[in-house]
Amino acid sequence: MTIAEPQTTPDALLSTRVRNAQPALWTNPAREAQPAAALSALGRSISLDDTKAANARLGRFAGLLAEVFPELAASAGVVESPLLSASALQPALGWQEGQGRLFIKADHRLPVAGSIKARGGMHEVLEFAEGLALQHGLVEPGGDFRELATPQARAVLGRYQVAVGSTGNLGMSIGVVAAALGFQATVHMSADAKAWKKDRLRQRGVQVVEHTGDYERAVAAGRAEAAANPQCHFVDDEQSFSLLLGYSAAALHLKEQLAAQGVPVDAEHPLIVYLPCGVGGAPAGITFGLRQLLGPHVHCFFAEPVQSPCFMVQMMADATQGVGQHPSVYDWGLTNRTEADGLAVPRASLLAAGLMQPLLSGVFTVADDTLFARLVQVLDALGERIEPSAAAGFSGPAMLAGTTAGQAWLRCTGIDAVLHQTTHLVWTTGGLLVPDAQFQGFLQRGRSVLAARG
Ligand SMILES: *Cc1c(COP(=O)(O)O)cnc(C)c1O
Repeated sequence: MTIAEPQTTPDALLSTRVRNAQPALWTNPAREAQPAAALSALGRSISLDDTKAANARLGRFAGLLAEVFPELAASAGVVESPLLSASALQPALGWQEGQGRLFIKADHRLPVAGSIKARGGMHEVLEFAEGLALQHGLVEPGGDFRELATPQARAVLGRYQVAVGSTGNLGMSIGVVAAALGFQATVHMSADAKAWKKDRLRQRGVQVVEHTGDYERAVAAGRAEAAANPQCHFVDDEQSFSLLLGYSAAALHLKEQLAAQGVPVDAEHPLIVYLPCGVGGAPAGITFGLRQLLGPHVHCFFAEPVQSPCFMVQMMADATQGVGQHPSVYDWGLTNRTEADGLAVPRASLLAAGLMQPLLSGVFTVADDTLFARLVQVLDALGERIEPSAAAGFSGPAMLAGTTAGQAWLRCTGIDAVLHQTTHLVWTTGGLLVPDAQFQGFLQRGRSVLAARG
């Protein structure tokens, strides 16, 4: 009798790389070219109409936002970021001839919050304010939300509290917007949140509560405290539709920006988008909007730190063990320690993961050293200041073109035949508000990584 050798499947190789905190790529076997128009997760179904409704809400509040945030006066209250050509960065990334063109979606420049969290966070606070404004008769239906800037309206909103648990950037978005509208604002932060973020919030009149332990602990503590106060709205990063739909509205604007720059998205010209992922709400919202709006030829990949690949392990569990799993990165022997503080999350949002099953193309991981090296290269080639979390997407194109798993995916999708006409879009998700002393430290680490790699 012969005993069969255990087979080393690609999945076993991938699992080993994940456990060893080595950069890895997972591609989604369940992606559908033509997903249903309405998709459900956590018992609710959403469609592009909900994305449009979120966008319309942001529009209704633009006048008020321009009034309460001086930095939004120039854009008349619109919070948006430019789509920038990043061809000048391609040589530093080791770009091969015929690999296509690189762009960045510059959410690192988003005003008010300084990160992608401006999109979802602002939307959720505004949705809460809108409900109260109508309920208390502060604004007539169809009326002007600038009424909410009056002392009488602010006094009413001031009876309510907005709370959130955050590693930093979500707190900066929710806290600053809520406080600016007159709400009591409370941000529950994990021990690893950066001191300058806590300071900035306190300066804006936000109450910062510090918790020992990681992001999940801060969220749980905040959720429990909020549940005890009926006047409190808790922004739940792990299961909020309002946040997710706020993020998804980015797709509507991006579609116009692509058209304005003459970038087609079709079978001959695929668009591959690389999105840094923490709990998954922001990249899932954007992926939802883009897939529903642009169709089968837009491909979205999430990027995570090698020590915090919560979305990858969630998608792998869903694909192999069926839904109902909720693994954490600790289960995989990982530490969840990363300088990419916006991405330091041990367990994925089940809302995001559920929605992404038919939509997402894949997830890859990046070592922290690489994030710092990219941050330097982005500054040197483009003059843009991004934070470590925001650099995660830049490893995407090489993950596809330079690894066995990536090349297999390119062949399988047929994109290898049109790679020279492919648009690669890296979403740079934060950076604007990073203090100079912090940024100099990032550069120092990045330059020593680059020197060591020759
Ligand atoms: C929060 C954050 C992300 C990811 O958003 P999630 O909704 O947590 O997945 C990416 N980049 C930055 C800079 C962030 O702050």
